[in-house]
Amino acid sequence: MKTTNFNLENLVRANVAKLKPYSSARDEYVSDGSKMIFLDANENPYENGVNRYPDPQQRNLKSVLAAQKKVAEHQILLGNGSDEVLDLIFRAFCEPGQDTIITLPPTYGMYKVLAAINNVNEREVLLTPDFEPDVVSVLDAVDENTKLIFLCSPNNPTGNIFSEEKISTILQNFDGIVVVDEAYIDFADTPSWISQLKMYPNLIVTQTLSKAYGMAGVRMGLCFASVEIIGVLNKIKPPYNVNELTQQRALTRVKDTAIVAKEVATILEERKKLAEALETVSFVKKLYKTDANFLLVKVDDANKRYQELLEHGIVIRNRTTQPLCENTLRFTVGTTAENEALIKVLQTI
Ligand SMILES: *Cc1c(COP(=O)(O)O)cnc(C)c1O
Repeated sequence: MKTTNFNLENLVRANVAKLKPYSSARDEYVSDGSKMIFLDANENPYENGVNRYPDPQQRNLKSVLAAQKKVAEHQILLGNGSDEVLDLIFRAFCEPGQDTIITLPPTYGMYKVLAAINNVNEREVLLTPDFEPDVVSVLDAVDENTKLIFLCSPNNPTGNIFSEEKISTILQNFDGIVVVDEAYIDFADTPSWISQLKMYPNLIVTQTLSKAYGMAGVRMGLCFASVEIIGVLNKIKPPYNVNELTQQRALTRVKDTAIVAKEVATILEERKKLAEALETVSFVKKLYKTDANFLLVKVDDANKRYQELLEHGIVIRNRTTQPLCENTLRFTVGTTAENEALIKVLQTI
């Protein structure tokens, strides 16, 4: 095992390193629960549940998450969806017009979009035909300006979790930061890379409440890394990036582990039934292995089948334009009734 020459100070953008963060009213005086009169933030004093600014450090939520994920609270950053978290990572480490990131298509489209927004070069190293990272080519694509490598595992849209050995080889041989996007980890039976944060100072793990937790509407992204990396991201996050309503709803939901686990178990059962039904559909050519709440399927003619499903009131994702994904469709697993309706339509068209 090669240990990298990882040095966080060399990776942080110079302007971020020397920046003094905005200090909000709620940062300067942290309530210890005693009854105080708050005249510090120019708020309207009349109570309506949201008249006060939210906790900029989301302490209640982080304390529950820290216990559940077995990390320190200072190893957590929360954002307005993982999309905000990913954007903060770009802005902390990538010098516009100079630095480079590596993505492994076919994968989540936001990495490329965020690179373009931040004027950061994106190098694409295709997955192998079995949708695993091509480790040698990924490491070959690294140069002195490469700051970030994005690994989405389980990967969207392919659905598979990447081999542990391949991810650890990349972590061990890259001096920049490896972001493992685990948006779908709750559907996989493999442990999260969060448990490896102690081993790898160059690892950032992102998760979200948008998928398994059923909270896409509240926008809550989770980021786990070393205390040092989280410290850098904290400096540049907007002070009140997670609103009060989101904090409240997310807290209730993450405490409700039994309900989330039950819904995930049901979705996995439904996924199995849907996969079995898809196997029998005449125009389905191949079903890919999935560790997520969706199925990638190769069909005879993706554009045609996509249109037919739309005409029957069913919206899926056509992935045919993605590399290695010619004539593929992505089906999210729905409720039992929704999946039955889908299967019925698939068998008639
Ligand atoms: C859905 C998804 C996300 C979630 O983004 P949010 O902004 O948290 O809703 C992140 N990464 C991947 C790969 C996804 O598919």
